[in-house]
Amino acid sequence: MATILDGKAHADRMLEAVRQGVEARKAKGLRAPCLAVVLVGEDPASQVYVRNKAAACAKVGITSIEHKLAADTPQAELDALIDQMNADPGVDGILVQLPLPKGLDSKEALHRISPAKDVDGFHPMNQGLLLEGLPGLRPCTPTACMSLLAHHGVELKGLRAVVLGRSEIVGKPMALMLLEKHATVTIAHSRTRDLPAVCREADLLVAAVGRPGLVEGSWIKPGAVVVDVGINRVEDEALAAQIFTGEPKKLVALRTKGAVLCGDVRFGEAMLVASAVTPVPGGVGPLTIAGLLTNTLMAADQNR
Ligand code: NAD
Repeated sequence: MATILDGKAHADRMLEAVRQGVEARKAKGLRAPCLAVVLVGEDPASQVYVRNKAAACAKVGITSIEHKLAADTPQAELDALIDQMNADPGVDGILVQLPLPKGLDSKEALHRISPAKDVDGFHPMNQGLLLEGLPGLRPCTPTACMSLLAHHGVELKGLRAVVLGRSEIVGKPMALMLLEKHATVTIAHSRTRDLPAVCREADLLVAAVGRPGLVEGSWIKPGAVVVDVGINRVEDEALAAQIFTGEPKKLVALRTKGAVLCGDVRFGEAMLVASAVTPVPGGVGPLTIAGLLTNTLMAADQNR
């Protein structure tokens, strides 16, 4: 049986390091770091994410500010708010919660955030620094995955890594970070031919696709480390019966609650083949917020 890589426990370690960093600032007479979050519209999932971020900030002593804008806010108004936060010396980190409602251009908003305050690490300047292997604010999810792998002593040098998914948020930066650590990296995606065969080459498989249970046990090389970034909601019992083999609790939860969360990897099958696997929930999910607060502290320390 594979080892479960406990993301919640590692997120707690990362958050404790942030809390200590905030304390160290205070000991030097500096103010607490401040994260400003912009939420446009009423998307329920985004509301939950923003609430969770504020709660995590409170736990580690980071000040959080929330700007709630109506779904029909014009781009010019969103841009003006970003300009105002860029100019505010009391704000260290700016996060525009995605997705933005129709009619708003998320690239325009993200590119407007000052690179020094871009705690999501999505600004082209920060993406360019990552490409060059230079320090900067880096995307939270892959950064936190790298921290989890380092904590568990996964030796990346020379390893065959396959990253499933090529988004700017997860897949591409994850591939660059693995490359920086001397892994041999393949990026696979929706147009990749014979995906199972490509995955089977991986000593480290990172799945960031958004397709419930896409990765079957037979796609995993025996002894591989599997990091499952996907967070998917499953309501369909027939699909659940296919992808939750060896996970009877998931099937029971689906019947009682009407829906369950799962990753891109069939966890029950992966547990029989891999050497280590992140669960969903409780794997990469909690790490992302820890990565965000780590970036907020870093931005505050660099800004002043
Ligand atoms: P995205 O939709 O931007 O990108 C998905 C990628 O998967 C694309 O590059 C696409 O080419 C690839 N893909 C789609 N279908 C495929 C298929 N059938 N086979 C192979 N590749 C396929 O998604 P994203 O923002 O990178 O997120 C991916 C998943 O990770 C989602 O489930 C998302 O909810 C989750 N996520 C989790 C966290 C976290 O905190 N754990 C953070 C970000 C994203």
